[in-house]
Amino acid sequence: MQTTKRYTNQTFTKHVDDEAGRHRTLRSLPEPAVCQVCGDVYADRRWSKNDPARVASKHKQFRAQQSVVCPACQRQHSGVPSGFVYVEGKFSTLHRDEIRQLLENEVQRASEDNPLARIMNWQVDADGRLTVETTTDHLAQRLGHALSKAFHGKTRYGFSHRNKLTRVWWHRD
Ligand SMILES: [Zn+2]
Repeated sequence: MQTTKRYTNQTFTKHVDDEAGRHRTLRSLPEPAVCQVCGDVYADRRWSKNDPARVASKHKQFRAQQSVVCPACQRQHSGVPSGFVYVEGKFSTLHRDEIRQLLENEVQRASEDNPLARIMNWQVDADGRLTVETTTDHLAQRLGHALSKAFHGKTRYGFSHRNKLTRVWWHRD
């Protein structure tokens, strides 16, 4: 569906508050668009890292980019994650740096496919449990797989299709 509607700050706020609107944003974006927060670019119906050369070659007749806020930045702004990864057990406290490195590498690889897949927050609670919040449900699953592949342990997945929310528990003593 084509729209000539401009994405103002007012629209942004509305979309953050409105779950349905948030999912609709992707389909109704004008192209090319650039996220005013992170600088990622929306062209050919997909988001990618800002690479002016690529965008220029794809759009020979270069049009001025619309200024928007990408779904990942909207999520970060709203503070509502799509995925949670809980890293638990003695092993995880003893090998925190390795685990963190592994997760960061995995996010790096995931961002090549989808730059909107990001970590929103890392948090360690009083019991030493690490909670990682992600902007996409898929990224949480991917981090769970990466932990399981690298360090074995036990992985459990919980999905809520209604909210598109994934929780992953990884445990190793
Ligand atoms: Zn952005």
